[in-house]
Amino acid sequence: MPVKQFKAESKRLLELMINSIYTNKEIFLRELISNASDALDKRHYLSLTDKEHTVDRKDLTITLTQDKEKRQLIIEDTGIGMTEEDLENNLGTIAKSGSAEFRKQLEKAEDNIDIIGQFGVGFYSAFMVSKRIVVESRNALSDKAYSWTSSGEEGYVISEIDKPEIGTRITLELKDDTEDENYSTYLEEYTIRNLVKKYSDYVRYPIQMEVTKSIPDPTDEGKTIDTKEMETLNSMIPLWKKSKSSIKDEEYNEFYKSKFNDWEDPQKVIHYSVEGNLSYTALMFIPSKTPYNFYYQDFEPGLQLYSKGVYILDKAKDLLPDEFRFVQGLIDSDDLNLNISREILQQDRQVKMLAKSITKKIQSYLEDMLKNEREDYEKFFDNFGLNLKYGIYKDYGMNKDRLQDLILFRSSKEGKYVTLNEYVERMPEEQKAIYYACGTSIEEIEKLPVLKKIHEKGYEVLYFLDERDEFVSGILQNYKEKQFQSVNKADLDLDNEDEKKEKEEKTQENKDMLDKMKEALGNQVKEVRISSRLTDDPVCIVADEGVSLEMEKYMANDPMNRMNGIKATKILEINPDHPIFAKLQSVYKEEPEKLDDYTDILYNQALLIQGLPISDPVAYAKKIANMMLEK
Ligand code: ADP
Repeated sequence: MPVKQFKAESKRLLELMINSIYTNKEIFLRELISNASDALDKRHYLSLTDKEHTVDRKDLTITLTQDKEKRQLIIEDTGIGMTEEDLENNLGTIAKSGSAEFRKQLEKAEDNIDIIGQFGVGFYSAFMVSKRIVVESRNALSDKAYSWTSSGEEGYVISEIDKPEIGTRITLELKDDTEDENYSTYLEEYTIRNLVKKYSDYVRYPIQMEVTKSIPDPTDEGKTIDTKEMETLNSMIPLWKKSKSSIKDEEYNEFYKSKFNDWEDPQKVIHYSVEGNLSYTALMFIPSKTPYNFYYQDFEPGLQLYSKGVYILDKAKDLLPDEFRFVQGLIDSDDLNLNISREILQQDRQVKMLAKSITKKIQSYLEDMLKNEREDYEKFFDNFGLNLKYGIYKDYGMNKDRLQDLILFRSSKEGKYVTLNEYVERMPEEQKAIYYACGTSIEEIEKLPVLKKIHEKGYEVLYFLDERDEFVSGILQNYKEKQFQSVNKADLDLDNEDEKKEKEEKTQENKDMLDKMKEALGNQVKEVRISSRLTDDPVCIVADEGVSLEMEKYMANDPMNRMNGIKATKILEINPDHPIFAKLQSVYKEEPEKLDDYTDILYNQALLIQGLPISDPVAYAKKIANMMLEK
């Protein structure tokens, strides 16, 4: 039989597994049992939906066998089994979809085994304890059986075998013991018993093992003899059917990790039951990290669906709204039809009701967390806040009312997170709008000239650090009747009556000069005017109604939109209290021919401060140099 090579990524992972110094090697058993349980789910489902493949529920089992002499641990299930193709595709390749990303992470992480779990590579963890693995399998829909054998790095061999029973048998040939590692422990009854209790107690199929029991010797009173008998090691009560108060955090954590392929404990557990028109139990989790592929196509959102404890579907995405797609978990309902398929799922009235109820529950769970566990919520928001924002502007803002109170922004109050409600609640009475400033970092935003005046007024400013924030405010338009307003917008309307009057006078006094400056800039700007928002800086650029400066920047960086050249309508504002303004006045009076250059330089400076590109850097540099050379 030809030896086939593992794909590059698989090979790297295998090496990692084989040479693993990971201390928690025992989890391999959890991973293999979890795979067996999934396979049994699939077989059970087939049996219930296809008369030709009926199987008795009691024949759906997982059996564990140890052979001390051969140093073998065997995990056998009567599940759906694998075809030759399945063996090739499922066990010959890992990290099917995320392989490029996976390699990147591996390179970064070197010996960091923690990343392995994220990639759904459970099966390979068996190589942490085995020097050779044989998988023998027959698929329920095929009459041929195949084996897959591998000693790790050299590759694997697939051959046809004789195996009349449907299902999969995995034989692990354990590694030799070393000074630091006792692999033989996995051949001990008590070790296996403990591991099953610890990690797989909830598995809804019996996990059986032949155990040795001492019974009274019928022929010789007072003595005992050892007999062997099959024992079911797990309680088989699905975790979600147990009462909440009887479940330890650790059980939830183990369940989550084995079922949803995470190496880390979940951040939150949402477990509840609903009785009524549509009764169901939900056991859902919020991961404690953003999955590496969360924002990529290959991330598959959705909840597992059970009916009366019978598995129906994996990743039923119609049960979860997009904005909550980070939730992992399962739903078990007594009222659903077993024959429900992915296609029916979309139209099914009961499924729609179910989805509505689940959405409501997650929503109120998050609201409670925000209210009562602020620190946890902020951590959650760092992981998945982007997705909530996406939920706001998706579908033309259909869900904005529901989601607007779940989002957080950094603000000028020490850069801390604030909700829109908190912002509005604490704003001074005379403040007219919700002010925001855009930038890529808090430091960058805090340097913006236009912020000073607003700060002096005692107004808080939201920091839009994410490109999507402006879309979000655009969809919301206002919150509690307060408009969102960029600090770069033309009509900030910050002044009181006296200030307005003063500005008007200054404008009149300098009208000719301002007009000349506008002329010099041509249609680069709509207007040159006196500013009331500047304190320490000479000039700034603001945007008229329509496209904002941030939007222009965003478009300029986006290759899809760059060609369109969408631009904000700009206004150049000058600070009348800055010494530069006095200089401008004297230049205008005494050397009017130089005003054009001064204007041009100031305009370009304002663009640079704003982070916008200038159209002719060479000309700009020349003008500055000339000015420096002047007496
Ligand atoms: P995951 O379980 O995260 O998909 P694994 O590497 O553990 O990743 O398994 C890869 C695939 O191999 C599984 O998705 C499943 O299709 C198949 N598989 C593994 N073990 C079994 C088994 N005992 N019976 C049937 N299929 C199995």
